[in-house]
Amino acid sequence: MKKILILLLFAIAVSCHTKPPAPPTPEDPGETRISAEDTIRFTPPKNIILLIGDGMGITQITAGMYRNGNKLNLEQFKYVGLHKSYASDNLVTDSAAGATAFSIGKKTYNGAIGVDKKGKPSQTILEEAELAGMATGLVATSSIVHATPASFYAHQKDREMKEEIAADMLKVDLDFFVGGGKKYFDRRKDERNLIEELTKKGYKISTYFDKEFVDTAIDPSKNFGYLTADTEPLMFSQGRDYLVPATRSAMDYLSKQQEPGFFLMVEGSQIDWGGHANDSEYIISEMIEFDNAIGAALEFAKRDGETLIIVTADHETGGYAINPTSTMDSIVAAFTTKDHTAALIPVFAWGPGEELFGGIYENTSIYDKMRRAFGFKKKLQ
Ligand code: MG
Ligand code: ZN
Repeated sequence: MKKILILLLFAIAVSCHTKPPAPPTPEDPGETRISAEDTIRFTPPKNIILLIGDGMGITQITAGMYRNGNKLNLEQFKYVGLHKSYASDNLVTDSAAGATAFSIGKKTYNGAIGVDKKGKPSQTILEEAELAGMATGLVATSSIVHATPASFYAHQKDREMKEEIAADMLKVDLDFFVGGGKKYFDRRKDERNLIEELTKKGYKISTYFDKEFVDTAIDPSKNFGYLTADTEPLMFSQGRDYLVPATRSAMDYLSKQQEPGFFLMVEGSQIDWGGHANDSEYIISEMIEFDNAIGAALEFAKRDGETLIIVTADHETGGYAINPTSTMDSIVAAFTTKDHTAALIPVFAWGPGEELFGGIYENTSIYDKMRRAFGFKKKLQ
């Protein structure tokens, strides 16, 4: 009996190892949606700002809050929900499938950028906003070709195809972007110079090479791009601190466009990298910077009155925990992994349409809720 049990356990262990358990998912949750929010009435927002803290689970928020004097701008949000972050091929998502769930509303495989689980390109919420005549922007503390921002403008089968992702930027009319990754634009295998091509298309492109972001003049009559680093930007603790000013500039720039509203995605990209490094201090400093960007968005939205702000993460990173003997000033952390985890992820909403975001739902529902908030009906092609 004991032998059988051991064999059985061994078999289970082997099968777990070789084949990750399939997530308990309906065939395509993108098609079978519970629409409890269909009865909710609200004034549609003109603008949506989606702020994504990459790898930002509840503990990352908690640690940032205590270390920030027991307060965060996030506490101003009254509507809080939770999303299920799993990918189509894995219970634990990566940032590509996670952001693509938000951008196209379909569960897809890890590594997918703006494509469904069969690898087929699908229109993103940013592209749909463009077609509806709205202004669009992306701000990230990673490179602009990194999985999260890329999933909003690019369509590639794999997140590592960074030069192809950069080239996809020529196919959309992204009005404003700030992020790293200059070398994917101007030192490419195919010898194209995308900075020149974007300039010809009507962009004013600046880089960290010419000027600091805060000293860069922004002409609202031209599309604007700023490349903050050759590859990936520095950590906040190493002196990178453009997330808040770039968020402010983006809102200012986008609201000046002669267009009926805007869609802006802002990413605190490196909360995730602190989790991968199992480095609590790294997580905390990136988390507090991200919360300050949330504060800037709230300031704008309070003045403007027609802006919906959504704050969420793609997944949690590190299995981060706050252990006994911690104090508010001194967090004693533990981690279960150097990878992502499958925990439910919080969603915070503020402004017109915020009521849509309470409850527990699939990550793909965030896409549906944003479309519902904008009043998008049939897909424009
Ligand atoms: Mg990211
Ligand atoms: Zn990650």
